[in-house]
Amino acid sequence: MMGREDWAGLASRLDIASGLFIEGQYVNARSGKTFDCLNPATDQIIAKVAQGDVADIDLAVASAQAALRDGRWRSLAPRTRASILLRLADLVEVHTQELALLETLDMGKPISDVLNIDIPEVVNTLRYFAECIDKIEGGVTATPVGTLHTITHEPLGVVGAITPWNYPLMMAVWKLAPALAAGNCVVLKPAEQAPLSCTRLAQLFVDAGGPPGVFNVVNGLGPEAGKALALHPDVAKLTFTGSTAVGKLLLGYAGQSNMKRVALETGGKSPQILMPDLYDLDAAVDRAVGGIFDNAGQVCNAGSRLLVHQSLHDEFVQRFIARAQQAYQTGDPLDPATTLGPMVSQTQRQNVQARIDQAISDGAKPVLGGLSPDTQGAGAYLQPCVFTGADNTMRIVREEVFGPVATVQAFETEEQALAMANDSDYGLAASVWTADLKTAHRMVGALQAGVVWVNCFGDGDMTQPFGGYKQSGNSRDKHKDSLLSYMQTKSAWFQLG
Ligand code: NAD
Repeated sequence: MMGREDWAGLASRLDIASGLFIEGQYVNARSGKTFDCLNPATDQIIAKVAQGDVADIDLAVASAQAALRDGRWRSLAPRTRASILLRLADLVEVHTQELALLETLDMGKPISDVLNIDIPEVVNTLRYFAECIDKIEGGVTATPVGTLHTITHEPLGVVGAITPWNYPLMMAVWKLAPALAAGNCVVLKPAEQAPLSCTRLAQLFVDAGGPPGVFNVVNGLGPEAGKALALHPDVAKLTFTGSTAVGKLLLGYAGQSNMKRVALETGGKSPQILMPDLYDLDAAVDRAVGGIFDNAGQVCNAGSRLLVHQSLHDEFVQRFIARAQQAYQTGDPLDPATTLGPMVSQTQRQNVQARIDQAISDGAKPVLGGLSPDTQGAGAYLQPCVFTGADNTMRIVREEVFGPVATVQAFETEEQALAMANDSDYGLAASVWTADLKTAHRMVGALQAGVVWVNCFGDGDMTQPFGGYKQSGNSRDKHKDSLLSYMQTKSAWFQLG
């Protein structure tokens, strides 16, 4: 097995492509500008990345439009498109080490997480949607003799994708795979905090036989390149994963431009409810800890609100802290033994620390971390933090933190637990721990969340539609239905008589 030294050796020899990827090749930004890409574990610059803006978005959209018009992708036989996406999945596997290094150096995620979670999920997503391509069927409806009515599904056109930094490649592929499978051409604007792996994927698409211009990547800042993509009149659909605040802006940009479709996967504040009859407290503690501290809490569905029956509360807090201390040790993310990397940036670390400080001044009690942040030395590291004594009026309970910070609140009755869980602007995910099937079924029905886990947390596969209720978004990634969301139906009524 490879150790830290092996990964560090590979990292030192890594050839990092820093251009935009338009019309099948790396190019500089029209303005010639670049931005610094930092390794958050060391605060060192790892690349100077081309900084695209309106002009580059225009170029990339024009390239995608041209590819759309001449049919170089959408007119290929479905099996041919499928085989190109399957080859791309194979190439991702072949380049696992390189892509994992890019992800770890760029956003600080522990290398073992990238190898065990991100890359396999990227490969599965590409294969799943490739396999769906020739399973899309239209319809013929019942009509009078002498007429024929067909319903067919067609690609939308140019899809703009704007993605976040917490699972850079995986979040992008959740969108790219169905958009490309459906026959669209894509312009992707990855998060500026972690853009490197997505640009490399675009090159791999061409290596797999994908025609130039079908999948373009424009790196750049959100309010410049992202906004230009969202306002572009030739973009038919915008698919977004990121914060609720930016999601709301995008809805406005669509209204100001061409009324493009806007699919949003946004923030979360997911409750994990532990009922008094749960059958294995250690299992619940183990999964609850992972639910909030994996990926340093930088997870949209992070189970940040622990709602624990009062009969279990004190015992739970004790075991939760012990398990968090044992399981999550900060370290060099290139070390396969590291379980807690840095936050994505010093800015994000400071944002999270400010939320912690606010919670303390609001009266919440830190029972793990919080009081003495480790701000010494390089790297955007932050220790896990757990609060008790918080209530639903406090910002730490209401607002998304996007860091390793949990609150534990006690409840007395099921009704109270559900009321606390649903008292949120968000509705991405929730979990319930109970030994009683009837309780589980009742609570799943009452929880306002797009995804509910029973006696587990974070489980799922490609068949699971992923997305939220309320201000957590308006669409679903994964599952074959998401493929149809990148298509439009055409009704054709034939008068045959
Ligand atoms: P963010 O909203 O700040 O940025 C997301 C993307 O939007 C980036 O590419 C950014 O450059 C771009 N952007 C920023 N301002 C823009 C603008 N004015 N116009 C167009 N684009 C703009 O979010 P983030 O900090 O990168 O990611 C964290 C957020 O993402 C959290 O809120 C998290 O919950 C959410 N998220 C949601 C899911 C989900 O599936 N629901 C998954 C992962 C992350």
